[in-house]
Amino acid sequence: MLPLILSADYRAVKVNVIVLICIVIAVNAPLSSQASPTTPTADVQSDVLVISPQPFENSTEPELLDNPRDEDESVSTDHPVKYTGAQLWRISYDDQVRKNAVADLQHKFNVAMWNLNGTSVDMFLKKPVIADARKLLENAKVPFDVVIDDLQHAIDTENPPPEVIEQLQNRKGHRMTWSAYHRLSDIHGYLEYLANTYPEICSVQSIGNSIEGRPLLVLRISNGNAKNKAVWIDGGIHAREWISPATVTYIIDQLVEYREDQPKYVQDIDWYILPVANPDGYEYTHLVDRLWRKNRRPSVNGRCHGVDLNRNFGYHWGEQGASRQPCAETFAGMSAFSEPESLAQKNFFERSGADFQAFLSFHSYGQYILYPWGYDRFVPPDHKELDRLGREAAVLMKKSGGASYSVGPSGSLLYPASGGSDDWGKGTLGIKYCYTIELRDSGRTGFILPANQIISTSKEAQIFAYKVAETITHG
Ligand SMILES: [Zn+2]
Repeated sequence: MLPLILSADYRAVKVNVIVLICIVIAVNAPLSSQASPTTPTADVQSDVLVISPQPFENSTEPELLDNPRDEDESVSTDHPVKYTGAQLWRISYDDQVRKNAVADLQHKFNVAMWNLNGTSVDMFLKKPVIADARKLLENAKVPFDVVIDDLQHAIDTENPPPEVIEQLQNRKGHRMTWSAYHRLSDIHGYLEYLANTYPEICSVQSIGNSIEGRPLLVLRISNGNAKNKAVWIDGGIHAREWISPATVTYIIDQLVEYREDQPKYVQDIDWYILPVANPDGYEYTHLVDRLWRKNRRPSVNGRCHGVDLNRNFGYHWGEQGASRQPCAETFAGMSAFSEPESLAQKNFFERSGADFQAFLSFHSYGQYILYPWGYDRFVPPDHKELDRLGREAAVLMKKSGGASYSVGPSGSLLYPASGGSDDWGKGTLGIKYCYTIELRDSGRTGFILPANQIISTSKEAQIFAYKVAETITHG
């Protein structure tokens, strides 16, 4: 039994309900450094970022934490998770009364937060709690909108039906389209196709394997000029953010298949692109649980799978906004780079001789261009340059007919989250332009962005990546 280890939260102030929950977990499920020998169970996934039911003593800001998942929600690994009747609500969040009501909602009903901005929060509610949650908000006179009234319906209709996808597949030697979300084999097959078809500019390499043994494929696109600067792009580190791999592969398509149309400063960059940084999680979202976020690390406590790979990088690892609880959505892992997926990125950068000037990690959702630091509400000394690039890009994205993106340091604009890859890129690798881009949308569909928005979202992202390329080339 290791209650002290489990209850020793990373944060300075620990006396709150979360700690009590940790102790309960510790009593029921001792922490082990080894995976459980028993058959692991899959988890109904909903808890994302949850405000502590009680504010921390030294802060007037709400802290964003995870709830541990309920044990009785576990389901068998092979059983697809259904979200019939589950809803996404947008709740006003602009004064203390409303914040207290939201905290109450979380405390009483274990409701998960999907997104947060200055005036509202997006909360995900399972069907059984909806009636009582509605009553609570109505009694507190807190306005809210139901933005998704049946999450399962949204999931069932976000992608075209399989027979339509089959018709969409082109016959050029690969199966990728940007009219549908594709399985990992289609994405990886596309990278292999490009390497075989354009060997003079493309090569593909596996930088390591996921915990379940899937390759982490990086496509390098380069004209071979030794003086080129390099840009890293990754997608899909959070499994359920399907728009991210779709967008990243769209950028690849432009860089390779439409190469002659691209500006010279784009052709003179060495691009290193990892479209699916969490391949096990990605496949799991297609086969079992559409809302899975983490990797598929077998349970370390006999109950809950997965580590949040974007809390597992080794710069200020395990500080604010990361959890030690294996059942939490932001479980940081047992140590920095404990996960093969994040370790592979570390090893890749340590081996690489490329002149990396930018590190871009694509996520969803919320429409944000975020730069370090994420681990706290500080900014790096050159933050004005990062901010200027972000704002100039956001203007271009909007001008092109795209969506509006907010720009700022992630720890201040949103909330502190330590162990992120962008902080590590900046803080450890010393790469100047590190960004996390939260793609569409701003909350109407959340993580379940319909496939008919892939291309318009991708075009915005392409504009951002090109602005980065232009800046590092011309200043
Ligand atoms: Zn994400």
